[in-house]
Order: sequence, then structure tokens, then C-alpha cells
Amino acid sequence: MNQKGGVGKTTTTVNLGAALALKGKRVLLVDLDPQAHLTLHVGINPDELDKSVYSLLVDSGISALEVIREVGDNLSCLPAEVNLAGAESELAPLTADGQAQRVLRDKLGPLLGLGDPTVASPTTGDGQPLFDFVLLDCPPSLGLLTVNGLALAHEVFVPMQTHFLALQGLSKLLSTVQLVGQSINPTLEVSGLILCLYEKQTVLAGEVMADVRGFLEAARALDVPWRRARVLEPPVRRNIKLAECPSFGKTIFDYAPLCPGAADYRALAEAVLKMEK
Ligand code: ADP
Ligand code: MG
Repeated sequence: MNQKGGVGKTTTTVNLGAALALKGKRVLLVDLDPQAHLTLHVGINPDELDKSVYSLLVDSGISALEVIREVGDNLSCLPAEVNLAGAESELAPLTADGQAQRVLRDKLGPLLGLGDPTVASPTTGDGQPLFDFVLLDCPPSLGLLTVNGLALAHEVFVPMQTHFLALQGLSKLLSTVQLVGQSINPTLEVSGLILCLYEKQTVLAGEVMADVRGFLEAARALDVPWRRARVLEPPVRRNIKLAECPSFGKTIFDYAPLCPGAADYRALAEAVLKMEK
């Protein structure tokens, strides 16, 4: 998540997910953004969907398995459509009792073993959970859709650019995570910042990084959900192939598997796998 647009959330969700899938992990990508960029990026036309994450949120009769589609080996997608923008206002009346924040958790939790322990979760033929990783691509806001994502997630990753104002939005983002943690999801943690569109040669990038590292170090002793957060290695370099592949509906590994962008997301997937508890 990051409430700023254009920082690399969707690019990272798709290509980190695809890199994990290439390493044999079963991955589900969830598009929580009404702009449906992730959906397009994996080759699904959001205008032709009869069911989407929107239907899942607003129609209690629809289950996640009816909406999820396979988009590659080990790679599935829960797509969005533009209607999703309406979900926030349709869910809003439920906010008083906290229900509106938990709809996604109620619908997807059972696939991740988070559901009612007395009800069997769906599994693969050999009894494994259906997915090893579920990556949620949040919209550029801290509204109800993002909060639904936070209510379900174990961990938060924050894609960001090393821009002058990068730290400014971070404290608002972190306090939203803290609030949702306290009210709905007590084990929620911010695991890492992912540097996107990275240009190493700039002095500014170095200065912003020093600020970010200082900010994270200062939190180590505090009782906050970001006390263990770190900046993930490697940063994802600015690479034109990453900007081209969405319009072909392909991940970077199907579009240009040998480019620097593919190498960076492969290395990032290795870093994430090393973090697994
Ligand atoms: P967000 O989801 O945060 O709005 P996107 O992932 O859509 O951000 O990225 C914003 C724009 O930057 C998109 O056009 C995307 O293709 C491009 N982009 C993202 N990461 C890179 C990168 N490492 N190199 C070049 N272009 C990138
Ligand atoms: Mg996006």
C-alpha cells in the first residue's frame, strides 16, 4: 500500500507475484483498485467481467472461488472492475459496527486458513492451502478498500520512490496501519519498504534513503507495527520494459525476461522468501 499514486504498487504486486510463482509458490493477486490496472496488467479486460472483487464485496452470496481466475502457472487473479469505486459507498452504511472493514477478510480468510476453525478451508488435492502468497494491490487512498486489505493482510509492504516528499505521506500511512491493527487485525506488521523507479546516481535518492533508514531505526524500540520494517534489497531500478509490459497484458517475465526489471523483481522475490517465518 501507499496512498500516493504512481509509486510502483501495481508493477510490484504483479511482478513480485509472478517472480514468486516462477519459484513454485502458488500466488493470488488481488486488485483492490477501481482503476483495475492490475487486472489489465495480467491480461484480463475489466469491462468483460461478470464477477469481480466488487461483486465479492457487495454481494454476500458470492464466494471468492467463483471470481478467481488463473492467469499463468501458479498465478491467479481476483480481478477488479470500475464498479469497484461504488463499493466504498455501498459498504459505508456498515461501518458503524465494523462490518464494512471486514468483508474481504470474511470472504478470503477461509482460503488462507483465517476462517472459522470449525469450517474446513478449501485445499488442493493433496491438502495444501490453495495459495502460498496473496498479494493485495491497494488503491491510492487510505479509504475503505485499503482498510479491507489491511484487515486481511499479515504484512504490509510499501512501494515508494526516493522523492523529496516520500517521508511526508509515510506517517499518515503508518498511523492508518496502526489503527486497523488495533481495531481489527492485531498481528498486522509493516515488513518492508520497496524502492521503485530507483535511480542510484542521484544525490537526492541517497539523502531520502538516509532519512527513511533513520526514521525506521528510531521505531525499533517502540511498540508500533513498523518496528521491524526495513528497506528491502534490491531497489527496483527504473526500466522502460516494466512500463511497457502492462499494455501487452503480460508480466515482465513473459514480456522481457532478461531485462534489468525482471532481474530486480526476481531478486526481490528471493529477499521476500528469506523473510518467511
Ligand atoms: P501505482 O500502482 O503505485 O500507481 P504503478 O505500478 O502503476 O504505480 O507505476 C506507475 C507508472 O510507472 C506505471 O506507468 C508503471 O508502468 C511505471 N513503472 C513502475 N515501476 C517502474 C520501473 N521500475 N521502471 C519504469 N517504469 C515503472
Ligand atoms: Mg496501481
